[in-house]
Amino acid sequence: MNCAEQLNSLVRKRWGKASAACDAHQLYTVLLDFCKAAMGRQTHNSGKKKLYYLSMEFLVGRLLAGNLLNLGLYDDVDAWLRENGSSLADIEASEPEPSLGNGGLGRLAACYLDSCATLGLPADGICLCYHFGLFRQAFEDHKQHALRNPWIESDSWLEDTGRRYAVQFADTQVEAALYDVDVPGYQNGSGRLHLFDLATTDESLVEKDGIGFDKTAITKNLTLFLYPDDSGRDGRLLRVYQEYFMASCAAQLILEEAEARGSNLHDLADYAVVQINDTHPSMVIPELIRLLMQRGLEIDEAIAIVESLCAFTNHTILAEALEKWPMEYIGEVAPQIVPVLWELDLRAKEKYPAPPLAIIDEDNRVHMAHIDIHYGFSVNGVAALHTGILEKSELADFYKIYPEKFGNKTNGVTFRRWLLACNRPLAALIEELIGPGFKTDATQLEKLLDYKKDAAVLRRLDAIKQENKQRLAAFLQENTGVAVDPGAVFDIQVKRLHEYKRQQLNLLWVIRQYLAIKAGRLPKRSIAVVLGGKAAPAYVTAQDIIHLALCLQQLIDSDAAVRPHLQLAMIENYNVSAAELAIPACDISEQISLASKEASGTGNMKFMLNGAVTLGTMDGANVEIAQLVGRENIYIFGESSDKVIARYKAEDYDPLPYYAIDDIGRLVDFIVSRELIAIGDRACLARLHRELIAKDWFMTLPDAQSYFAARDRMLADYEDRPAWAAKMLVNIAKAGFFSSDRAVAEYDRDIWRLSGQNSP
Ligand SMILES: *Cc1c(COP(=O)(O)O)cnc(C)c1O
Repeated sequence: MNCAEQLNSLVRKRWGKASAACDAHQLYTVLLDFCKAAMGRQTHNSGKKKLYYLSMEFLVGRLLAGNLLNLGLYDDVDAWLRENGSSLADIEASEPEPSLGNGGLGRLAACYLDSCATLGLPADGICLCYHFGLFRQAFEDHKQHALRNPWIESDSWLEDTGRRYAVQFADTQVEAALYDVDVPGYQNGSGRLHLFDLATTDESLVEKDGIGFDKTAITKNLTLFLYPDDSGRDGRLLRVYQEYFMASCAAQLILEEAEARGSNLHDLADYAVVQINDTHPSMVIPELIRLLMQRGLEIDEAIAIVESLCAFTNHTILAEALEKWPMEYIGEVAPQIVPVLWELDLRAKEKYPAPPLAIIDEDNRVHMAHIDIHYGFSVNGVAALHTGILEKSELADFYKIYPEKFGNKTNGVTFRRWLLACNRPLAALIEELIGPGFKTDATQLEKLLDYKKDAAVLRRLDAIKQENKQRLAAFLQENTGVAVDPGAVFDIQVKRLHEYKRQQLNLLWVIRQYLAIKAGRLPKRSIAVVLGGKAAPAYVTAQDIIHLALCLQQLIDSDAAVRPHLQLAMIENYNVSAAELAIPACDISEQISLASKEASGTGNMKFMLNGAVTLGTMDGANVEIAQLVGRENIYIFGESSDKVIARYKAEDYDPLPYYAIDDIGRLVDFIVSRELIAIGDRACLARLHRELIAKDWFMTLPDAQSYFAARDRMLADYEDRPAWAAKMLVNIAKAGFFSSDRAVAEYDRDIWRLSGQNSP
C-alpha cells in the first residue's frame, strides 16, 4: 500500500468514513497514529555508552510536521491531505503545543535531541511531565493573565512505558510513572524524551480561572506546573521537591539501563554520560553517589565515578538564576542526600578552602552550580563571549583551579524545524540553487554567496519574505486584532519578557516614532513592530513592560492618523508555533539585550537563518553572528560588555544624566502621559516610569541614542531593496555555523565521546 492508501484505510478503521468527510481533528488523530507507527519501526540509536540530557525544560513545540519531515513522510502526507481538501498547516492547528519549557534553554534541549537523533548518537532527554506546562498567557485589561495550559489529550505523543519508580521524600514515598516521546532523527535513527510524571497527580487541585493551587499537597501537585510561583516558602520547597524527584528518577533510570547494557557499576562511566542543563538537575550528583553506595560501593569510588560521569552547562550570569537552596529545605525534602552534600562540601573545602568556592556557605545555603563544577568533569558556557565572561569574572575563582574543565559550546538550533519545516518556500529555493546537501551539512549554505549579485534570485528571496509576511499578518489579525500592513517593514522582538532583554528600549523607540508621526514626520514605508513573550507572573517590572506594550498597541491602533504608518502588535501566548510564523516573516531581528547579559540567544540564530537582519548589541552569539556576516550585514549599537561589567563593578550607574540628553526624557515621560493613562493603569505605568529613571538596572538609557540611530539607519537602508536582499542572502548563507548539528558534534567530540566509544 502506498502512503495515501494506508492513510485512507486508517481513517476508515478509526472513523468509519472517507478521509474527505473527516474534520481536521479527526485527520490529526489518524496522522498521529500513523506517525507513531512509523516511529515505532525506526531503530533507536544505541551503543555501549549513552548520553542522558537532564533538563527541567524541553520546549519541543508541536511535533507532527517536524516528525513527518524527519521521517521523510511530509510530502506524501501533505499531498494526501490536499487531495482531501486540507493541508498539513490546517491539521497542525489541531495539535496542542506541549508547554514543557519557558524559553531558549528549553528550546535548546529540544534542538539538541533532534540533532543527537539525526547524528546517530545514543541520547535520551529526561524531564518532567507537567500537566499544565508553564502557563498559557491571556491578555485582559492590557495585562497578562496566567491560565493553565493543558496539552495531554487521549490521543497524544506520550507512550506509557509501564515503568514505575519509587521516590522517597522525608515523610512519604511517591510513585513516578515514565512516559516516553519518540524523537525521530532526520533520515536517521531516533532517540527518546523521557517524561516522569507523579502517578498520583490531581489536576482538580488547580483553581478554575488561574494557576493557583495548594503548594503543600506534594503527593498531588508535583507535576502540575513548570516553575510554580516561588515567591513563598511553600513554592520554593515545591521546586526542591520537583528537582529531587527528577534527579532521583533520572539516577535510577541511568543505573538500571547501564546495568542492563552490561555495566558492573564500577565501569559506569563507560556506559553513561550526564549533561546537566543549568542547575535545576544538579541533585542528580548526590543522588547517584547515594545510590551507588547503597549498592555497595565505597564513598571514594562512588564520588570518583560520578565525577567522570557528569558535565554541566551554564546558561546565565544573572545571579537570580544561580540556585542556592537552604540546606534546611533539602533536609525537609530529601534528608537522605544531606550527608552526601556535607561530605562533598567537606572534601571540596579540604582542597579549596576559599569561601567563594564552597558548596555550603556560612548561611547553610547549598550552591547548586558549585556542586556541578567541583564534581563534574566539564563546565561549558553557551557562546564565546559568555564563556569568556564565566572564565574572567563570574566563575573566575573556579576557572583558576579547574581550567581544564572549562570550554565553550556555542548554541545551535535545528535547521529541520527552523528552516525546512517553518519556511518551506525558502528551503525549496535554497535546494533549487545549491542542491539538498545543506539539509544534513549546514555549512553548504555558504554556496548561496554565489548569488549575492543575482538580481533574479534576490527578487525571489524578497517575494518569499513577502509571502511569509502575508501569513504572519493573517495570524496577527486573529491573535491580536491588529491589522498589520503586509507591505510594512516587519520589525520583530519575540522572546521571554525580561528587563535585561530590554523590550522597554524597543518601546521607547515606538514612542519616538509615534510622536514623530503625530508631528507630521512620516516614515517612508509603514513599520510593523511585533512583540511577544511571557513574563514570570511574580516579576513586577516585566508585567509593567507588557502593560506598556499593550497600552501603546491600543493607542496606535485606535489612531487613524498613525495606523497607516506604524503598527504595534503584541502576540498573545507566544510559543514555538507562533515563533514558526513570526521568524520567517521578519526583516529586522531585535536582539537588544544589555551587553554581557544574554548568554547566547538562539532566537537571533533562527531569525538570521530565515533572512532577517540583526539589530543588536555585542552580546551573546550576536558577537559571532557579526564576525560571520561582517559589519555591513548586521547593525550593532550600544556599550560593550567590558564597559557594562566595569560599570556594575563601580556601582556608579545613574540613569538621570541620560534622561536629560536630547529627547530621551520626553520619551520616558510619555509612559505617564495623559494619552496612556487614559488607556491603562496609572499605578503600573508610574511604577515603570520610576523604575526607568530611578534605577534602570539594565542600563536602557545609555544605549538609547545609539539604538535609535541604528534602527533609523536600518529603515533607511531597507529602501535600497537589492542591497537589503543581498544582506538577507549573506545572513542565510552564513547561518550554517549555528546548526545544532555542529553544536552537538562539538559536545560529542569534547565532552560526551559517544562516537569514539560506540563506533566499531
Ligand atoms: C528560540 C525560542 C526562544 C529563545 O529566544 P531568545 O531570543 O534566544 O531568547 C524562546 N521561545 C521560543 C518559543 C523560541 O522558539
